[in-house]
Amino acid sequence: MPRIAYVNGRYVPHVDAKVHIEDRGFQLSDGIYEVIAIRGGYPIDLAPHLVRLDRSLRELRIAMPVATNVLKMILGEVVRRNGIDEGIVYLQITRGVARRDHAFPVKSSRSLVITARRHKLPTEATFEKGVAVVTAPDLRWRRCDIKSVGLLANALGKQTAKEAGAYEAWLVNPDGFVTEGSSSNAWIVTANGDVGTHPGNNDILSGVTRKAVIDVATKLRYKVVERPFTVAEALTAAEAFLTSTTSFLMPVLRIDGKTISSGKPGPISRRLWRAYVDSLATRIKPW
Ligand code: PMP
Repeated sequence: MPRIAYVNGRYVPHVDAKVHIEDRGFQLSDGIYEVIAIRGGYPIDLAPHLVRLDRSLRELRIAMPVATNVLKMILGEVVRRNGIDEGIVYLQITRGVARRDHAFPVKSSRSLVITARRHKLPTEATFEKGVAVVTAPDLRWRRCDIKSVGLLANALGKQTAKEAGAYEAWLVNPDGFVTEGSSSNAWIVTANGDVGTHPGNNDILSGVTRKAVIDVATKLRYKVVERPFTVAEALTAAEAFLTSTTSFLMPVLRIDGKTISSGKPGPISRRLWRAYVDSLATRIKPW
């Protein structure tokens, strides 16, 4: 089955899918995106992803190029045309094509691009294996709450991780606090069983999975503390894990080559994982 992309009103073969060289996304990273996981052909947490999309657009004063129900229809159609049962759908909106100039064009065309691909979602086995992370300086701007396509600092972080044989880079701000991962949120479980993650402010992208895990943790009566933690705290934590749309909840077993706790997924991480996976049934809805 040939891959199909949606580009500005057309479904086109992926190999032929193009935007103009003066698209502001290409020249200025003037755009935003979302990644939504697909299971059984349907989206996980579509509604909160669309709420975040709206917010990112509002913060950048880019108007939605199509109505929300039309957008849902196109997302579903791209998933269907690519025959995706389990995978991800990627959507990107930019301010569109205009003569290169930093200030906004008077009339913005906006570009809407949607792609989908197969991707194996986490399983019990991948959970049990866990991952290693390395730390890297957080070099990003001060509006990390916007899901902007300006991902250069995130890409540098991920490359550092890859070269170290790690899954993710945990980004550390100048005060020594872990903000988040290059494409995930960062968490620890303290010795007394509290679950901690960075506050959902401008220094992080507030993950849809982060919110879902806060909800399941709260339901399980864990105390969720939204506060920054240092690398030293993470190294001596009872448990550590990361969350994202594509990783769900993944135990972090090593940080910078040092083993966390027993070096195995912890009991609280496992309970949260189970509750998260169980909750998927209610969070997968038709388009
Ligand atoms: N932080 C960053 C920087 C990310 O890119 C992502 C992945 N989109 C996340 C956190 C996790 O967000 P979500 O759970 O919505 O995928």
